[in-house]
Amino acid sequence: MHFMTVSIFPSLFEGFWNYGILRRAIESGILHTTAIDLRRFATDKHMTTDDRPYGGGPGMVMKPGPLVDAIRWAKSISERSRCILMSPQGRVFTQPMARELSAESSLILVCGRYEGIDERVVHAVIDDEISIGDYILTGGEIPAMVVMESVVRLLPGALGSEYSAASDSFENHLLEHAQYTRPAIFENEQVPDILLSGHHQKISHWQLESSMIRTFLKRPDLLAERRFSAEEIDILKSWRKQLDSFIDRSDILGAGSLSGQKS
Ligand code: SAM
Repeated sequence: MHFMTVSIFPSLFEGFWNYGILRRAIESGILHTTAIDLRRFATDKHMTTDDRPYGGGPGMVMKPGPLVDAIRWAKSISERSRCILMSPQGRVFTQPMARELSAESSLILVCGRYEGIDERVVHAVIDDEISIGDYILTGGEIPAMVVMESVVRLLPGALGSEYSAASDSFENHLLEHAQYTRPAIFENEQVPDILLSGHHQKISHWQLESSMIRTFLKRPDLLAERRFSAEEIDILKSWRKQLDSFIDRSDILGAGSLSGQKS
């Protein structure tokens, strides 16, 4: 896969691409990167890439000429590139979108600055607009890094054999189960016995139930989208049984037990 970024601060990406999973992906040939310096496409001696907004108002707007030229140059390197503008007005980025982008052969990530970019750039060369959330950053470089890192994790071979993205939170509408590592006892809290048992089937059942509990408590909206397996239905039924037993044992103040009331 090829990531190209268009920005007035291309050197911001050098450090980012030089560490961890991105560096490994580049070294193993899974990933190619090009940081395009927008100023190279400016046409005046001051290398101007922004100007005052028509109609007045605060701040500056990125000029259309250098941006469109830079993006067309990027497209000439990789003709089937998808060109994405980082924008707080775009679709809010999610794990399914990361998966969708991971199927592309080349992405051009356009990083705005100031008040944003001239609207005609969007009409001429932008395929999609992506936001990383409902807040405003100063530039599109950090949003572009967010998109790149989440997409790279999904490229075959990028994570190494010891790790799979399939159990990560948000994959299949479940948050990931609780994780523990050595020592087995930390500040009087012990790792759940089952994880030390070596019994793989029981461990995987515990992990599934842990995922479901965490999703139910932290993000019940995700569970509403989930198509449950037979094992998950059994887990839900066991919760229901336990809840019913609590309800049946309870007294409403002065009114006797709830099950007594029913009869
Ligand atoms: N005036 C613009 C508006 O209200 O929509 C915001 C411009 S922002 C200060 C400058 C640039 O930062 C944007 O063009 C965009 O590239 C980037 N940016 C800021 N917040 C972002 C977000 N939440 N997601 C993606 N990009 C963002």
